[in-house]
Amino acid sequence: KSGFVTIVGRPNVGKSTLINHMVGQKIAIMSNKPQTTRNKITAVHTTEKGQVVFIDTPGIHKPKSKLGDYMVSVAENTLNEVDLVLFVVDATEKRGAGDEYIIERLKQVKTPVFLIINKIDKVHPEALLPIIDDYRQLHDFKQIIPISALEGNNTSSLSEAIFDEM
Ligand code: GDP
Ligand code: MG
Repeated sequence: KSGFVTIVGRPNVGKSTLINHMVGQKIAIMSNKPQTTRNKITAVHTTEKGQVVFIDTPGIHKPKSKLGDYMVSVAENTLNEVDLVLFVVDATEKRGAGDEYIIERLKQVKTPVFLIINKIDKVHPEALLPIIDDYRQLHDFKQIIPISALEGNNTSSLSEAIFDEM
């Protein structure tokens, strides 16, 4: 199996940590041609089930400038061009305007979205249920998966779920 995945979320929720955890090696470089697509391949996750390519998305946030406008439109195009979106939130932080803005954008795309609740190593298990309930009311997530990207808790389940979606 193979496919394309993009990871979105507020700054500091753990997107880079998750990519680093999922990926053995970074792609060196493919060609010396100028970049013809707007999508950037950052990393490949390989298991016996196949290969998943993570696409780097510029941050999704309320644009405050022309450039910001452009970056957001690039990010939104990426959402439509991948097979799966991972929306990462921080279990230790309250949901905020940044999360809600991203969810509004996610509602515009047909691509399936997994809600990834990260940093569960820092919260009590009982604290997870209210978080799940809260987000579930905002969007019809295909799956909701709590993980610790830092410690690797439940990341193998995430990997399986990703390949099941491809
Ligand atoms: P990004 O801005 O979304 O790419 O977030 P980063 O991956 O840079 O992570 C932001 C901070 O959160 C860093 O200090 C990470 O070490 C920390 N972090 C990321 N994932 C976890 C996690 O699962 N548990 C804990 N405790 N810290 C995490
Ligand atoms: Mg990052």
